[in-house]
Amino acid sequence: MAKLSRREMLAGSAAITVSGALQTRRSAAQTAPAALDGTQRFKIGDIEVISILDGVRRVKLTASPTRSASLEQFQDALAADGLARDQIARVFHPLLVRTGGRLVMIDTGNGPRTLSVGTGLTAQRLAAAGIEPKQIDAVIVSHFHGDHIGGLVTLEDRPAFPNAEIKVPLDEWNYWLDDVNMNKAEEGSNLRNAHNNVRRVFGAIPGRNLAKFTDGMEVAPGITAMATPGHTPGHTSFVIASGADTLLVQADVTSGIASVFVRHPDWFGGGDMDGPMAVQTRRKLYDMLAVEKLPMSGYHLPFPALGRIEKRGSGYRFIPAA
Ligand SMILES: [Zn+2]
Repeated sequence: MAKLSRREMLAGSAAITVSGALQTRRSAAQTAPAALDGTQRFKIGDIEVISILDGVRRVKLTASPTRSASLEQFQDALAADGLARDQIARVFHPLLVRTGGRLVMIDTGNGPRTLSVGTGLTAQRLAAAGIEPKQIDAVIVSHFHGDHIGGLVTLEDRPAFPNAEIKVPLDEWNYWLDDVNMNKAEEGSNLRNAHNNVRRVFGAIPGRNLAKFTDGMEVAPGITAMATPGHTPGHTSFVIASGADTLLVQADVTSGIASVFVRHPDWFGGGDMDGPMAVQTRRKLYDMLAVEKLPMSGYHLPFPALGRIEKRGSGYRFIPAA
């Protein structure tokens, strides 16, 4: 069995170039109607997983979202995936996992301060599924970009899941909460805003509710952390395993319009903070997933964000689950 070298993936240091999505202003997203139910349940052995569509951010495409390709090349890649050439639709998929008698969230969506109308709907989706925030036992965080941590707090900056233990990657914590790193980012830049956002969100979480994990640790029953750095310094994927079943939760190994970056794994994009490391991580992970034929969930893949990876030519394809 091909084994992914997690240690190897951890090696090297991140050169920070670009920051990811930011959520620092309020919008009318909370009142935006949900276009569809926006949840999909499935089982991994005895573990129940619910994929939640936090929303859809539609943006008119006027410039290439990646410095690796021209606008036309990017549009060709969209068309190859059967997508429109003139606009992109960004999607966000936190997971709710029922495992070992516990309710666990993996990432939280954009939250109430989302910049994008039509996103930040995870709280509504949970309520519609009959789940109250106080029932959530743990929230596992893949990385600290705003579209993943925004839902940790309410509009009043109080813990959104009052009884939950918030589990974060140690490497991610060490990078973002270091003032030296923050001060390297220019005042008013996206990266600086992201640092400020991290401080706002985690400033609201009581220390007793916070736990840090490292590569290879079991973060909840049947859920193991796998370091996949590059998108951010401490970016982490998760392996959910029960019985003979395994699901790889990639988070943002490919981000932005993720299926395009699956097709073109060497393109930097989607807010990858260290492009070369992100490329290296994604090729290593996808080679393993293709060989092992393991199902994958990806935060920015099309709803319900479940499928598998196939190797095609010099890249890969995301094959949605039937
Ligand atoms: Zn993301």
